Amino acid sequence: MAPTLPDLLRRPHMKREMEKRRMTKPRIAIFDFGCCEGCQLQIVNLEEELLDLVGLVDVVSWREAMTGHSDEYDIAFVEGSITREAEMERLKGIRQNAKVLVALGACAHIGGINCLKNFFEMDEVLKYVYGKEAKHFDTIPARPLSAVVPVDYAVPGCPIDRKEFLEVVKALLLGKKPPIPNYPVCVECKMKGNICVFEKGMTCLGPVTRAGCGAICPTYGNKCEGCRGLVDDPNLDSYKEVLQEHGLTVEQMLNSFRMFDGYMEVAK
Ligand code: SF4
Ligand code: SF4
Ligand code: SF4
Repeated sequence: MAPTLPDLLRRPHMKREMEKRRMTKPRIAIFDFGCCEGCQLQIVNLEEELLDLVGLVDVVSWREAMTGHSDEYDIAFVEGSITREAEMERLKGIRQNAKVLVALGACAHIGGINCLKNFFEMDEVLKYVYGKEAKHFDTIPARPLSAVVPVDYAVPGCPIDRKEFLEVVKALLLGKKPPIPNYPVCVECKMKGNICVFEKGMTCLGPVTRAGCGAICPTYGNKCEGCRGLVDDPNLDSYKEVLQEHGLTVEQMLNSFRMFDGYMEVAK
């Protein structure tokens, strides 16, 4: 029987594997920018696997979970989007220190919900949030990490999937490319035998969105809002056909894209 993910992560197994490959314990750091920190919370919530995980790596910086900090790290997991000028320099510093930089969650990966503010004037946004104190703050249109520095990999989703995060860490520990799916949510949705939400008069971004979440939203009767970003080569022609069949246009779908993928629209 194939080993389960917890089996694979269990310390002796991975330790043996890493020794075989003459690998040393990588130093990991976790950082956050503009976001709700829900993706980090997913890591904290790993409960059973977390102790095994920290036995395989040296966590040298993680504000949400520990007090120590070091600038000596191999892999940086970075959550959140860039929403202030000063954050660009901080992110460039992290990029300089890290051998591998992984965007953690939709905010870091594709800009995420923070990019909704990009459809307004920045002065207006500041006043809305800070009122009379707005003059003490600064903000810029939100952007994903990749708009500022090169990003090696991403753990998609809002929030990230805990098991997928472990798969990514496991691959990085073994020096492999993380196995993030590059096919649309529809594939997982069909495999689950769901009734397509288009048949219920709703719209859905599943045909162009990267799978990996198990089509959780359509499975529970909701549309996919595209939190995992587009697949690498979305079949837009076929998607347009699906929309046409249901009397819809791409323009009518753009508002749905804005929830998580608004950056693409503004950055064009
Ligand atoms: S991707 Fe979602 S859960 Fe993660 S930090 Fe951003 S808003 Fe929060
Ligand atoms: S509900 Fe959405 S994800 Fe599922 S098959 Fe229909 S379009 Fe695809
Ligand atoms: S179904 Fe779509 S919106 Fe829901 S978790 Fe998956 S990718 Fe995100």
